[in-house]
Amino acid sequence: MSFEKLNLNKPLISALDDLGYIEPTPIQERAFPIIMSGKDVIGIAQTGTGKTFAYLLPILRSLKYSDQRHPRVLIIVPTRELVLQIVKEIEKLSVYTSTRFLAIYGGTNINTQKQLVYNGVDIIVATPGRLVDLSLTGILRLKDIKQLVIDEVDQMLSLGFRQQLLSFLETMPSKKQTLMFSATMNEEIEAVITKYFYEPVKIEVAPHGTPLEKIVQVCYHVPNFNTKVNLLEYLLKHDDSLNKVLVFSATKKLADNVYEQLNQRFPNEVVVIHSNLSQTARINSLKQFHEGTKRVLVATDIVARGLDITDVTHVVNFDTPETPEDYIHRIGRTGRANKDGVAITFINETEQEFQVAIETMMNKAIPYESIPEEVVISKVLTDDEIPKMVDKIKQKKGKDKYVPGPAFHEKKEKNKKVNLGSASVKEKMKGKIRTYRRS
Ligand code: ADP
Ligand code: MG
Repeated sequence: MSFEKLNLNKPLISALDDLGYIEPTPIQERAFPIIMSGKDVIGIAQTGTGKTFAYLLPILRSLKYSDQRHPRVLIIVPTRELVLQIVKEIEKLSVYTSTRFLAIYGGTNINTQKQLVYNGVDIIVATPGRLVDLSLTGILRLKDIKQLVIDEVDQMLSLGFRQQLLSFLETMPSKKQTLMFSATMNEEIEAVITKYFYEPVKIEVAPHGTPLEKIVQVCYHVPNFNTKVNLLEYLLKHDDSLNKVLVFSATKKLADNVYEQLNQRFPNEVVVIHSNLSQTARINSLKQFHEGTKRVLVATDIVARGLDITDVTHVVNFDTPETPEDYIHRIGRTGRANKDGVAITFINETEQEFQVAIETMMNKAIPYESIPEEVVISKVLTDDEIPKMVDKIKQKKGKDKYVPGPAFHEKKEKNKKVNLGSASVKEKMKGKIRTYRRS
């Protein structure tokens, strides 16, 4: 099936030709006619399988030339970096047209953005925060929006963003087409979607949460931070194939700590990105990693969603992600557009419950590797690790009876939701030895 068979126009076909793309991916092929028909759509397809063009192609196909000021298409995404990426994709597809598009995101001068909006625009790509700020100024009017895209929809409707997004949607015209995409979905988010959007058609290329076959997954059981650093150092030193490595860590502080440790060992090869850095620093780190001038990018989950960084060879989960969805998105930064990729996950004892949830969702165990002999198993705990150990000892002695807090209940609930009933993996997990072995 070539692009010719989709009902595209000359400017789009020429643009795709220039990009060297020969055929649509499955989600692009399936979404095109349905989106063209005007229906609301939820598109689920694995990471790196071309969801961006799955919505951009039909949108650009049906966008007519106009010189009206107010935007007609709005694309909402969770991060600034993703805004910039999607704007670039629009730019690539609209080289032969005069489509006007604009990136709207925080951390930059709002007055410049106001002026650009005022000049007139067809498509806006935005993060929710700055979008709200701009519409409050009265300069950005959304009354003419005909098509709304929510990319990474499960993230955008998850607790952190939901209230803001839903109250914002209230202010938009009700007669519009809504398109939602992600590689993951859960029942709770689907319920929100059913409540707020009009009879969306669900296009599911692969069941939610299916990782790409192309991504080779392995995990190590590693007891603590210092041993994790030793193991990562060993892998970076001994395996040349790790030449573009994205290292994820759960918090900004941990990202900084990992960065410091790696930077000492591999000077000038490592950069870091998280939301406490200035926007310029964020863009620089990403650019240097993207272009291949730096070998390692240490990052928080801000780059886990949607970002398409060329040829990442390895994703390393320095910590095990707390939700299976985060795991799928993190490892999905490699193995994109049919390339190969490796995902390595470091798991300490407390993170093993996350591992079970991940494996349950994938219905597949992550193959386990032993820590190589040469790697020093450190007994030195970091300041952050010590209190956790003390808690643990207390629990064991039964002195302070442990009462799980609300967060604990939440997690359990979440895990329940992603449990697709795959008893087989759970059974396997039961018998799995979970001690730190060398062989
Ligand atoms: P997703 O949103 O599904 O994670 P993206 O839309 O970011 O994936 O696309 C992943 C990569 O595949 C991008 O580099 C994109 O340019 C490329 N791509 C998209 N469509 C095609 C196609 N039809 N043929 C080849 N490569 C494509
Ligand atoms: Mg995407």
